[in-house]
Amino acid sequence: MEVNIIDKALKALRIYPLCDHCLGRIFARLGYGMENDERGRSIKNVLLLYLHGRAKQENTLPDIEKLAESGHEPSIRYLEEIHGTKVDVKRCYICGGDLFNKVDVIVKMILDKIREEDVEFRTYHVGTTIPRDILMRELEVVTNVGSEWAESIKREINRVIGKKLRVYLRDKVFERFSPDVEIVVDIVNNDVRIDIKPLYVYTRYRKILRGVSQVQLRLNVITSLQKVINDNICSRLRAREAIVHASGREDTDVRMLGRGRPLVIAFIEPRRRPEESSLREIIDLQDEPFELSSDVKIVNRRVIERLKSEASRHVKIYRALVLLAREISDEEARSLEEYFRNRQVIQYTPRRIRRKPPKKRRVRMVYEMRVIKIHDRLLELIIKCQGGLYVKELITGDEGRTTPSVSDTLGQDAVPLLLDVLDVLDSY
Ligand SMILES: [Zn+2]
Repeated sequence: MEVNIIDKALKALRIYPLCDHCLGRIFARLGYGMENDERGRSIKNVLLLYLHGRAKQENTLPDIEKLAESGHEPSIRYLEEIHGTKVDVKRCYICGGDLFNKVDVIVKMILDKIREEDVEFRTYHVGTTIPRDILMRELEVVTNVGSEWAESIKREINRVIGKKLRVYLRDKVFERFSPDVEIVVDIVNNDVRIDIKPLYVYTRYRKILRGVSQVQLRLNVITSLQKVINDNICSRLRAREAIVHASGREDTDVRMLGRGRPLVIAFIEPRRRPEESSLREIIDLQDEPFELSSDVKIVNRRVIERLKSEASRHVKIYRALVLLAREISDEEARSLEEYFRNRQVIQYTPRRIRRKPPKKRRVRMVYEMRVIKIHDRLLELIIKCQGGLYVKELITGDEGRTTPSVSDTLGQDAVPLLLDVLDVLDSY
């Protein structure tokens, strides 16, 4: 690869008047520790020396005029004072010449906006919207000149603004991938917006009352976890709303006990962003049908997908109170335990679920079933099984849609009266 900066820069300036930034940017990956305007100015200086040096052998005046048209002061003075010609500086072909002059104004606007919006953040990123015609002209120049060292104007503007901002936001961190806030700059229309990214909090919830649900509010549901969190916690974080993403869910009439079910709460547009340690107090729920674990982590949004995909891999422990049609013997109880040791269960979508397409097949494991006789026809079952198993149907058989089932195995009707989730194992 032959690096001929002089030829390429001359080629560019003969066709396009380019400001220091836009010329320098064509060679952005050459050199180190300088900005593109400095790079562009240096190239223009060298070009003038080069053209001046060859002035005896050939007529280099037209090229020096091009240099002057691009705003190169020494070339303008050279032409004026040595040759008596006056050259009008042309607008930069790519950026129009005033884009980079706006940076100081933009930085001030950003700082005002941050104060005005009163947002807490530790990390930030700057993104600038550049009009399409500027991007197209840039592409045209780089393609015609044939440079493999160019960078995009978007990247340069973001970096230049970022560098100036850093001076004022000393206690904040510039972060490209998952910043707390994204500062969006519309440089042509002089507009600045602060995009507050969600705060994702990982915890577990316990549901200590029946008749409440995770998200949906239906006629028979008093309240939901999502509503309780919105009502209690959003104001503490000055968030617009909260959305809950849990690892699976239990029926409305089923409690969620033990350590609780893993959950990520997405707080949307939070203006407070506390440390993990103080979140514990903030998410504390008092006198509600739900409790949130004090084991709190701040996570990123990828954890939500992991949580959902892991739901069926979690091992769950249920407790069911089951009413039988007739009394069973101790031997029958023992053989039920025996039968459901590591037993594969095939289930078709239960009749009670209407929203799913009918007859979807699902295969899940029952690892263990402990049978405790409470009364003649009353059993307590402790069922250790794979996530996603329909436990009520495991007991009833759902008219043959779940096989095998407790009803089948005992040869009589078995009805679940109460159901609790005692634990969700294998947490994030
Ligand atoms: Zn320019």
